[in-house]
Amino acid sequence: MPQETSPDSQPWLNPDAKPFIKLQGVTKKFGNFAAVDNVDLEVYKGELFCLLGASGCGKTTLLRILAGFETPSSGKITIDGVDMTDVLPYERPVNMMFQSYALFPHMTVEQNVAYGLKRDGLGKSEIEGRVQEILALVELTDLPQRKPHQLSGGQRQRVALARALVKKPKALLLDEPLAALDKRLREQTQFELMNIQDQLGITFMVVTHDQEEAMTLSTRIAVMDKGRFIQVGTPTSIYEFPETRFIANFIGTANMFEGRVIKSNAGFLLIKSEADNTELSVDYGAAMSEGRRVWVAVRPEKIQISKLPFDESGPNQLKGVVHDIGYLGSASTYRVKIAGGKIIQVSFPNQRRPTDDQFAVDWDDEVYLKWYSSSAVLLTK
Ligand code: ATP
Repeated sequence: MPQETSPDSQPWLNPDAKPFIKLQGVTKKFGNFAAVDNVDLEVYKGELFCLLGASGCGKTTLLRILAGFETPSSGKITIDGVDMTDVLPYERPVNMMFQSYALFPHMTVEQNVAYGLKRDGLGKSEIEGRVQEILALVELTDLPQRKPHQLSGGQRQRVALARALVKKPKALLLDEPLAALDKRLREQTQFELMNIQDQLGITFMVVTHDQEEAMTLSTRIAVMDKGRFIQVGTPTSIYEFPETRFIANFIGTANMFEGRVIKSNAGFLLIKSEADNTELSVDYGAAMSEGRRVWVAVRPEKIQISKLPFDESGPNQLKGVVHDIGYLGSASTYRVKIAGGKIIQVSFPNQRRPTDDQFAVDWDDEVYLKWYSSSAVLLTK
C-alpha cells in the first residue's frame, strides 16, 4: 500500500474523524435503470473530492441527489450530522454550481453574485460587503458592471463560483466546473480553485470526466462506472495501486501482461506471461497459489529503454523494435513491438535534445526494456 501521511491531513485515516457528507446504500433508479447503484461514501470537512467517470456513469445524478434536486430511490444521506431525507434543496447546507454556469444574462457580475443574498432578504450594506469580498477572492473586482456576454469563459466561470460561494455554503457541489475552458485556462483555473477552496476551508465535491483534472485537484477520487464506485482513494493510491484492470486502464495508461504465477515467495511473485513467455516479478505482500491466473500492469514511465543491453539478466526485461515514437516535447512516448507482436508503451523524459543525444532512440531501433518489480502492480480481476 502507498505511504500515507498524518491522519490530520488525511481524516479518512482517522477512525475518530466524523464525515461531513455520508451516503449509505444510495440508489437512484429511473424506471428499471439504476443511474446510481448502492453507493456508500464518507467525505470529510475541507476535502476536495472528485467523482470521476465516463459520460453517463451517474456522476451528475449523484451530485443532484446531494443537492436535493433528485430523491434517491433508497438509501440515506447525512450532511453535517443531519439526515437530509426531508430537507429541501434550498435548506441544505450545500450549494451547486452547474455545468452551464446558469448566469442571469441581463444582470451584471455584481447583480448575479448578489442575487441569492437579496432573495434571502439580507440588508444592503451586508450584501455589498459580502459581494465585494467574494469578487476580490475570485479576482473580479475590476469588472462588476459587465454582463455575462462581455466576459471570457474563465471570467464567467469565476462569476458562477463567486455566486455559489457568496452564500457561504458548508459544501459546494461543482458539476464539470472547468469544462467550458480551454486547456491552458483550465490548468490555471484548477490551481485557483484549489487556492480558493484552501482559503475558505469549504468542502468541495467536483464532478469531472477529466482524469488529469481529478488527479490535480483532489484530496481523494471516487472512480465511478455504471452507477457504482469502483475504487475510492487518493490520486497517488489510485494511480500507483489500481485494484482492477478497469482502473489501471481508465486512470493513465498501463501495459498489461496476462499470465500465471510460477513461484510465490513471501513478498515476491514470479509470473510467466502467456503471450510472450516473459518472466515478470512483482513485489506483493501475500502468498498466492502457483498456477493462478493474474495480470501484471506496468505504467509507461516506469519502464527504462536503452539501445544497449542491460548488464544483468533477470525478470522484467524485454527486447523489441521501436514501432512508433510520439514526441511530446518534455517527454517522448515509444511504442515498442516485442516478440509475439505485443506493443509496449514506454514514456521517457527528454532530458537532452534528441538531436544532441547519441543514445537517443529512433524508429526501427532494436531496444531493451526493463523495470523494477516494485514498479509493477499485480491484479487479480
Ligand atoms: P456526463 O459526464 O455525460 O454528464 P454523468 O456521469 O453525469 O454523465 P448522469 O447525468 O448522472 O451521468 O446520468 C447517468 C445515467 O442516468 C445516464 O444513462 C442518463 O441517461 C440517465 N439519466 C439521468 N437523468 C435521467 C432522467 N431524468 N431520466 C432517465 N434517465 C436519466
